[in-house]
Amino acid sequence: MIKKDNLIFKNLYGRNDPFLKSALQRGDWKDIKKILKKDPQEIINIIKESGLRGRGGAGFSTGMKWDFMPKSRDKQHYLVINADEGEPGTCKDRDIIRNEPHKLIEGCLISGYAIGATKCYIYVRGEFLNEASILQKAIDEAYSNNLLGKKIKGSNFDFDLYLHYGSGAYVCGEETALIESLEGKKGQPRLKPPFPASVGLYGMPTTVNNVETIAVVPTIMRRGHDWFSSLGRKNNTGSKIFCISGHVNTPCNVEEELGVPLKYLIQKYAGDVIGGWDNLQAIIPGGSSVPLLPKNLCEDVLMDFDSLKDAGSALGTAGIIVINKNTNITKVILRLSEFYKHESCGQCTPCREGTGWLMRMMDRIYKNGATVEELELLQEVTKQIEGHTICALGDAAAWPIQGLLKHFKNDLLKKPKKIDKVA
Ligand code: SF4
Repeated sequence: MIKKDNLIFKNLYGRNDPFLKSALQRGDWKDIKKILKKDPQEIINIIKESGLRGRGGAGFSTGMKWDFMPKSRDKQHYLVINADEGEPGTCKDRDIIRNEPHKLIEGCLISGYAIGATKCYIYVRGEFLNEASILQKAIDEAYSNNLLGKKIKGSNFDFDLYLHYGSGAYVCGEETALIESLEGKKGQPRLKPPFPASVGLYGMPTTVNNVETIAVVPTIMRRGHDWFSSLGRKNNTGSKIFCISGHVNTPCNVEEELGVPLKYLIQKYAGDVIGGWDNLQAIIPGGSSVPLLPKNLCEDVLMDFDSLKDAGSALGTAGIIVINKNTNITKVILRLSEFYKHESCGQCTPCREGTGWLMRMMDRIYKNGATVEELELLQEVTKQIEGHTICALGDAAAWPIQGLLKHFKNDLLKKPKKIDKVA
């Protein structure tokens, strides 16, 4: 589908060196002087017109998010990069950091310039020790070559970039929990409003963006918003890194245009479902937080924000988890319920108590099967959590179960024959 020439991440698989010399050969940092001469608002407008939507899960317009930042520069503005990638089934940001760190650094500089942020923090998941060491080395190279620091490349713009290691809490991937953690506090989400664009890091205007979102910005600036928006579909423009895992023959990350058919992605790049396409039971298309899709919906669905929403799920992080028929699907969703219960930060009652309820009910149903009344109660509990919590972790715990109830209700009503292992 995507032409080789349109690939943004030319070193996604790490076949070449990640550092500056090699990055320059791939075209990184080209025209940076010219870009830093543009009016910041012009850069925001280019990103808006490109149609770029956040690649971290929510899919909000990046240019619009930047435009929320105050235009006056009387306060310190911050750019914060969310590199806390902890969504099950998602493993793209670590590959960008490991193999294309200069794309991220250059993206930070341009984005910081656009929103008037002279300081940027990359909040990286603590376990990514190898990736973060590579990134730090690339940051040092950028400082030595006046691509970071004071008066960058003859401009009047100063920009500092710092790495900060997280400590493994999933909820710190939520932007306000991330900010709290960066400030040295317990990583618990804040109530919004106020939004970070007005009261963010240390109480100052802050934009939080995902690694992939920022890493594509330099290429859009060089090739133009028309080029980017010519890829993908209307309102779902550009390319995206899809992570394909689970029951496929060759799990992989691959960059493709948004709107690529799911079946094509799995068959062309991931060597098909283990046991063949007919052995497919369901997929979770966007990291573990979104409702699953049964096989019949997987036949034609397109992988983009709007198509997946129409199909009753979401693109999320584009972490595609494939589940074949050799697997007990109730156990798969039970495993996710255990995860969300473990990761709830405990601030709000529906999430703190509800995730435990969900996990225990799922465990009971997995072991004994369910009655119609029990399934109604399970659905009711998910509805009591969904939309009633401070952050989206509550929704993330509810949606996989809602997907299971919607598409596999009859299976849940059957008495389980034996307890299968998750393959
Ligand atoms: Fe914490 Fe859950 Fe409430 Fe989010 S929804 S703030 S994780 S208790």
